[in-house]
Amino acid sequence: MHRYFFKRSLCLLGLLLFTFACGCQKDRTEDITKAKSKTEKKLNVVATISMITDIVHNVGGDRIDVTGIIGEGIDPHLYKPTAKDTKQLTEADIIFYNGLHLEVRITGTVFDKMKDKTKAVAVTDGIDRSRLRIASEFIGGYDPHVWHDASLWMKATERVRDTLAHTDPINAEYYHSNAKNYLATLQTLHENMQKLAAQVPAKRRVLVTTHDAFGYLGKAYGFEVRGLLGINTEDEVGIADVRDLAAFIIEHRIPTMFVDTSSPRRGIMSVQDAVRANGFNVKIGGGLFADAMGTPGTPEGTYVGMMRHNIDTIVNSLQTELAYQE
Ligand SMILES: [Zn+2]
Repeated sequence: MHRYFFKRSLCLLGLLLFTFACGCQKDRTEDITKAKSKTEKKLNVVATISMITDIVHNVGGDRIDVTGIIGEGIDPHLYKPTAKDTKQLTEADIIFYNGLHLEVRITGTVFDKMKDKTKAVAVTDGIDRSRLRIASEFIGGYDPHVWHDASLWMKATERVRDTLAHTDPINAEYYHSNAKNYLATLQTLHENMQKLAAQVPAKRRVLVTTHDAFGYLGKAYGFEVRGLLGINTEDEVGIADVRDLAAFIIEHRIPTMFVDTSSPRRGIMSVQDAVRANGFNVKIGGGLFADAMGTPGTPEGTYVGMMRHNIDTIVNSLQTELAYQE
C-alpha cells in the first residue's frame, strides 16, 4: 500500500512536470513567434517630395517600406492628392512631409481628417527658425525650399532618424548607424558645393531662375538669386517682371539664366527676348532641379546627385560673360 502510493505519487509528479514542461515550451514558442513578427513587420512609411523619400530610403534601409507620392518633375506647390494617395497617407504608420506650407494641398485636406495627426512629421520642424529664410509674401512667412542647403537637409535627416528610432525601437541602432553614414555623405556634399561655388568670381555669382526656389542655395553657397516667379509657382509673370529682370541681367552682365524642372520655360524666354531687344545675348542654361529630383535610376534621381548636377550646371555656366549680339 505504502509502496503503491509512492509509485502513484511519482507518476503524478511526472505527469505534472511533463504538463508544466509542455506549457513552458508552448509559451516560449509563442514568445519567439511574437518577437519574430514584431521585427518582421516593417514600418509603412509615406513621404511627400522625392528628396524626403530619399532620406527615408537611406536611413530606413530594408527595415521599412516607403512610398513617395510626389515624383519626378511634379510641382509640390500645386500637387493635389489623388484618392490612392489619400488612402496611402491614411494607412501609413508615419508620414514625412516638408512642411512650411510647401505641400499645402495635402496638409490642408488629408491631415485635417486623419484620426492620428501625430504620425505626420514635418522634416523641417527640427530646424532652428533663425536659419530659415523669411519670405513675407509666402504663406506662413518662411521659404520652404530648405533642401537646397545640404547642411539644413542634414537637420531633416536627423528628424527622420529620430522619428524612425522612436517609433521602431527594436531597429533604433540600425537607423542610427545608417543616418551616421548618410549625414557624413551630406557633410561632404556641403563642403564640395562650397568649394565649387567659390570657383566663380564673386561678381558673377548671380543666379537667375524661373521660380524663386534657390534662395537657400544662394545663402549657403554665396549666390545672389533672382527668380522671375515668386516662391510659389502659382504666381503669374507680369510685363513689368520681365522688363525689370531683363534690365538687371544687362546691368550685371549675367551670361546665363536657368530654367527649373518644376516650372514652365515661357516666362524666362520672354526675358531672353527682352535682353536681345537691347542688343545683348543671354543664354538659357541647363535645367536645374528645383522641387523634385530627376528620373529614378539616374544620378540626378538621388538627392546627392541632384545637388551635384545643380552646382555643376551653375558653376560651369557662369564662368563666361554676357555677350553682345553678333
Ligand atoms: Zn518651389
